[in-house]
Amino acid sequence: MMSRTMAEAQLPHRVDGPKLVENNQQFSAQIDSSVLSRLNDAVDRCLAPVSCVLSFDRDEERHRVLKGSCSTRVSMVCQRCLEPVEVRVESQFSLGLVFNDEQAKQLPRRLEPVEVDENGILDLWSVIEDEVLLALPMFPTHEASECQMRQPEPENKPGNEKRPNPFDVLAQLKQK
Ligand SMILES: [Zn+2]
Repeated sequence: MMSRTMAEAQLPHRVDGPKLVENNQQFSAQIDSSVLSRLNDAVDRCLAPVSCVLSFDRDEERHRVLKGSCSTRVSMVCQRCLEPVEVRVESQFSLGLVFNDEQAKQLPRRLEPVEVDENGILDLWSVIEDEVLLALPMFPTHEASECQMRQPEPENKPGNEKRPNPFDVLAQLKQK
């Protein structure tokens, strides 16, 4: 196992939200993406940890705010050629920490509400996972040039009927 530098520290899982706000806590850390089961279900494969830069603070209106960004790389299925495509996922967010729906309703629109439990505990991994899921492309595809270079599988898999491929036609035209 490779040694981890400070910059690669694991982001804490469950944290005391209000306490981190009072401490103006900041994190530059990552989450091992293998622990994020919903993300693993949503993509073909995770290719990197989720890197996070987070800051807990009060804003000018005294709202408890978790501000930050996260990024990772995943492999998804290209919706044009059905081959894997590497997707870089990035998200920036401003979240308002609340204890209940009533507080959530009082947040200004610039803050997305995130609920802590009655003890102020926040599942930080789940919050970040939500942000990554929201940032996934609905229709992942290769760049047009890369996608056209893909050749169809030569072998005929059972159940896979051979259909004319528009890129084959294009390739034949180019050869002439
Ligand atoms: Zn493609």
